[in-house]
Amino acid sequence: MTKESKKKASVYENVTKQFNKAADLMGLDSEIRKILAKTTNEIIINFPAKMNDGRIEMFTGYRVQHNNVLGPYKGGLRYHPAVNIDEVRALATWMTWKSAIINIPFGGAKGGIQFDPHKYSLTELERITRRFTFALGSNIGPEYDIPAPDVNTNAQTMAWILDTYLSTQPPHERQRCTHVITGKPIEAGGSLGRDKATGQGVVFTIEEWAKDKGFNLNGATYTVQGYGNVGSWAAHLLKPHGSKLIAVEDVTGAIANAMGIDPDDLTAYVKKTGGVKGYTKAKPIDHKTLLSTKADIFIPAALENQIIAETAPLLNIKVVAEGANGPTDPDGDEILQKKGIDIIPDILCNAGGVVVSYFEWLQNKRSEFWDLEEVDNKLHKKIVNAYERVRETAKEFNTDWRTGAYIVALRRLETVYKERGIFP
Ligand code: GLU
Repeated sequence: MTKESKKKASVYENVTKQFNKAADLMGLDSEIRKILAKTTNEIIINFPAKMNDGRIEMFTGYRVQHNNVLGPYKGGLRYHPAVNIDEVRALATWMTWKSAIINIPFGGAKGGIQFDPHKYSLTELERITRRFTFALGSNIGPEYDIPAPDVNTNAQTMAWILDTYLSTQPPHERQRCTHVITGKPIEAGGSLGRDKATGQGVVFTIEEWAKDKGFNLNGATYTVQGYGNVGSWAAHLLKPHGSKLIAVEDVTGAIANAMGIDPDDLTAYVKKTGGVKGYTKAKPIDHKTLLSTKADIFIPAALENQIIAETAPLLNIKVVAEGANGPTDPDGDEILQKKGIDIIPDILCNAGGVVVSYFEWLQNKRSEFWDLEEVDNKLHKKIVNAYERVRETAKEFNTDWRTGAYIVALRRLETVYKERGIFP
């Protein structure tokens, strides 16, 4: 446990190790390497919010902007007690790589507030969100830094941020600023397909992997860790393939049923009760049993550092599809490789969310509204292209897919820096 929590506290170290491995292998320009090894801006804000009983509580919010050479800073906002500067730094950096791999004109950022949102009422959450947005002020903006949902934030959170941001702009500016945030409710300027986008991207990458391997998804078994937006959508979208969900874990506990768990029935249960615990159509299991469940696919869709030196040996699967950001640390990577388990790395696998965020941003800028088919087709094309780029690059360098994905991103960033040069 101590080792685990120590690792959790230094997730940025994982990014650094991954980055160094790819930069060494591809021979990244040593000057550009210096730039990309650092974040650009790190904003830490302590701010007050009024509770329902009239008390004031202080909160710590973060926004880290890693790089914007490819376009405005972009990335989600997370509400979780484990949010800290090290984690946000790592998540911001992963966003830069993600946007670069998937070929959208965005840089990387991430933010969040260090607290447990489940302990607050809806009106308190609204005040905390609005006050944080106000405190961020011009550190975010539609052409500068564009937040989105992440762990424990959703379309409602984005609507509050939008309203607060617009309310602090001059009236004649407001209409052209709705793309300050993505993942909004449809009526407030959101895009069709954004809600499911990350899970959809995960499933598109699994489809490509299955095609490559000649693997039949019909009847394939899979397990999921985290049954929030990403995990539940991925499971819902695997259902038409005839794949079978056999074990699930979230913060409340873990459950299993070798005969299969219906993803939609479980989603309805989780919406009602707040977690998978107590779901009667499956039996309760513990964390270790979940990880060692024999299945074809494992979809981690929760937090970082789940597949590490202690846990990676337990896995009995063919492929890890990383719905979460940073679920596997470098030790875990090494063990999975030795075991011959494939990895669809996070910065490719879960990029569907930011891709449809880009589509939402474009629709807002152009005052357009695309139908779901258009969004899905465009997302599919982006994911498949990126998947092929990563596969070919991994092959070219005879390396693992994570390193291949990094090289795709770093090549693009290196090219742009070389073309633009460094001011002055
Ligand atoms: N939070 C999501 C991610 O980690 C989405 C980010 C976005 O849409 O900007 O990729």
